[in-house]
Order: sequence, then structure tokens, then C-alpha cells
Amino acid sequence: MSTPDDDFGHLVHRTPARVVRAERTEDVVAAVTGARADGLRLTARGAGHSVYGRSQVDGGVVVDVTGLRRVEAPRDGRVTVAAGATWRAVVEETLPRGLLPPVLPDYLDLTVGGTVVVGGVGGTTHALGVTSDHVLGLEVVTGAGEVRTCSPTESPELFDAVRGGLGQVGVVTEVTLGLVEAPAHARRHTITCPDLPTMLADARVLLADGRWDHLQGAILPTPDGWRYTLEGAELFSDKADDVLDGIEGTVQTCTVTHAELLSRLEPLETALRGLGAWGNPHPWLTTFLGDAAADDVLPRLLDRTDPADLGRFGRVALSPIRAGAITTPLVRTPGGGDLFALNLLRFPADDAETARRLVADNRAAYELVRAAGGVLYPVSALPMSAADWAAHFGERFPALAAARAAHDPDGLMTPGYEVF
Ligand SMILES: Cc1cc2nc3c(=O)[nH]c(=O)nc-3n(C[C@H](O)[C@H](O)[C@H](O)COP(=O)(O)OP(=O)(O)OC[C@H]3O[C@@H](n4cnc5c(N)ncnc54)[C@H](O)[C@@H]3O)c2cc1C
Repeated sequence: MSTPDDDFGHLVHRTPARVVRAERTEDVVAAVTGARADGLRLTARGAGHSVYGRSQVDGGVVVDVTGLRRVEAPRDGRVTVAAGATWRAVVEETLPRGLLPPVLPDYLDLTVGGTVVVGGVGGTTHALGVTSDHVLGLEVVTGAGEVRTCSPTESPELFDAVRGGLGQVGVVTEVTLGLVEAPAHARRHTITCPDLPTMLADARVLLADGRWDHLQGAILPTPDGWRYTLEGAELFSDKADDVLDGIEGTVQTCTVTHAELLSRLEPLETALRGLGAWGNPHPWLTTFLGDAAADDVLPRLLDRTDPADLGRFGRVALSPIRAGAITTPLVRTPGGGDLFALNLLRFPADDAETARRLVADNRAAYELVRAAGGVLYPVSALPMSAADWAAHFGERFPALAAARAAHDPDGLMTPGYEVF
């Protein structure tokens, strides 16, 4: 894990005045109260997997929440976890009982709290939205130092300011997640398409008929040019349907356990760690693009993306999502139809000048997406001004600003996002 003056991006470094390691909600209350008394700003820190200083604070207080890691036994179709628990710990508790949260991030070593404050995109997002859509209740220590619980029916304005709210009103200490039945096996289908139009056509067919439980895509750099791929999985207990009608790309299929499906990023992490490249700078850009703009914008984005800037293990993630699947109010999406998660997941060489250039390039790529009605998924590496964030949150910004004023009157919380 990175130090409090660093994160997975290795692009921004801010030195805090102090670090508080919280093991109980009371420790978070004491940290917030102390920060208020000393006039210091404060940020929660989970697994440190943000990429642009979002969990850092210059001269302020970092509250390391990874000691808040209790995962209760599932009960009545729900599980309550401390916010510093990782998704891996949640899966280890629930999957052996045949249960899982409906949506999990691709990477299980993020904290639950650090994920639900941004949304949380994963393999089932195409149909079921983001992790924060399946939060049933929260415990939060507000910027005023109060312990509050909230849900869709209890203080819904606080609930909706925390989910997807980039930590602007308080520190999440506990999360209750809904659970669904989790079949033991998966048929995993990898589709290789000859070109972008075929990839988009197959993605649209698969999204429309919803035949698979997992659906994602990626455009990979190869020495011979881009490789267009989709990955789907059908979960099953007894027998999979294996419906492959209407797909134009070439399909390869294998059977894995559900646990293996959820660990699908581990080989990539192992390879990058083996090369010593896991710790390189990560100037990532993550966005949502409306389907209606995809045929026009994607070729332009690929034309201006140098495969060398993605690195050997990098990719342009391109995953279809059904209109209306994402419901968390502060997780912004392009309105009016299906959409794509569109991410530049770059693993370039360990070179500060290249990293700086790619952060600047992220801004240009973001503007291309934005001009076509797309929006940022905020875990990106690029500077965002307060005006950028106000435009990003759009019609939802007044509600976030009002919640901030009500629950964090001194404006302490999470300066790393530079929203206020
Ligand atoms: C290798 C990797 C894989 C990833 N995979 C996915 C993925 O599959 N899907 C996806 O959606 N995203 C993914 N991300 C992005 C990730 O979801 C976000 O960066 C997330 O915020 C990181 O959570 P964290 O626990 O590491 O939090 P940190 O980086 O420690 O914190 C992130 C932000 O959340 C705030 N925060 C953290 N904990 C709390 C809390 N308890 N209460 C209030 N605020 C808090 C911090 O102050 C900070 O602003 C990935 C990132 C990496 C590096």
C-alpha cells in the first residue's frame, strides 16, 4: 500500500500534518473533532487506489480507515461491513454462502467506502448499475463530527450526498449492502472482433437481450494494431445456456468457478508486479460516453491514442451499459439512452515527463468525450477546477453544495477532489 503522501497514480504528492489510524467509529469522530479544533482539512483514506491525490491532504489530517474492516455475517439478504473492508473480504464472507452484492468492482482490493463514494463499476454494471446503487444504508461521521445513519428513507438527502459524492460531506464508517444469490459457476465467453464496428454491433446485441450476467469490453494495443474484444459470463448452478446467436466476432468459451471469475484481474496484476511496473505512474482517464456518440467519437479517440502510451498491458476499456442501469444521483451519466464506460487504462513507463504529458492528454481526451455529451467517472488523473466539478454535477450540484453546507460547515472534508 502506498504512503499517505502518495497513491496508485504516483502523480500527486501531498504531505499531511498527521495520520490517524481509525479502528472504530469513535476514532473517526475524534479525528474530525480534532481537525475542526485545529482548523485543518481532513480526508479519509482507504486502499489508496485513487490516482490523482484524491485521498491526500497538504498539511491536514489523513484518517486511515483500513482498520475499520469488520464484515458481519449476511442476514436477511444484506451484509453490513465497516467502510475500510475490501470487496475481497466481503466476497470471502458471502460467496461461500451462495450470496454476493449484485455489483462488485473488477478489482476486489478497493475498500467498500472508497468505492461507494465514487460509484463502483464492475462486470455486472451493464444491467445492474454501480455498487453504490445497491447500498441499503450507511453510517457516516459528518464533517461536523456527528455520527449519522442514513438510507433511502432515513435522511435521504445525506444518503444521496454520500453515495457518489466524493467524500465531500463526511467519512463513511459502515455500509449495508444488498445481496443476491450467487451461482457457483460461470461460462466465460471471450469475443474477438475484426474491427470496431463489429465490436459495437456485438456489444449492442448482447446488451439488448441481456443474455449474460457479466458484460465488458476492451480494445487492446498489439504490435499489429488494435484488438477488439468483449468478455461475457453466464452464471449457472447446473447448466449454462451457451446462447451465441447473433454474435459476429469469434467466441472462445471456458467454464470457471464464480470465485475465479471475480479474480479475473489477478493475472494482470501478477504480470505487472513481475515486470516491476505495478508501481509506475498511472495517468488513467475514466468516462461514460452515450451510445449515440460512440460510432463518431471512438474512432477519433483511437486515432489520437498512441498505443505506446497505454503500455503493453494497458487498454481502452469499452463496456456497454443499459440506459437507466445507474441510479445513484451523483454518479453522472450521459442522459438519453444506452452508454459505454470508456476508460484509458494506461500503464506507461516509469517516466515523470511521460506521466505529465499523459495527464495533459487526459484533459484533451476528456474534452472530446464531453463535447459529445459524455461525462467523467471521477477516479481519473486530471486537474478539475471547482467550476469543472460544478458543471460535472450539473443539476445535482446544488443538492451536493447544500449537503456540504449542512454537514461539513467548516468545509474540512476531502480537499483532494478540489470540488469546493
Ligand atoms: C487497480 C485499480 C483497479 C480499480 N478498479 C476499479 C473498478 O473495477 N471499478 C471502479 O469503479 N473503480 C475502480 N478503481 C478506482 C477506484 O474505485 C477508486 O479509485 C476508489 O475511490 C478507490 O478506493 P480506495 O479504497 O482505494 O480509496 P482511496 O484511494 O483511499 O480513496 C479514494 C477517495 O475516496 C475517499 N474515501 C475513501 N474512503 C472513504 C470513506 N470511508 N468515506 C469517505 N470517503 C472516503 C478518499 O478521501 C478519496 O477521496 C480502480 C483503481 C485501481 C487503482
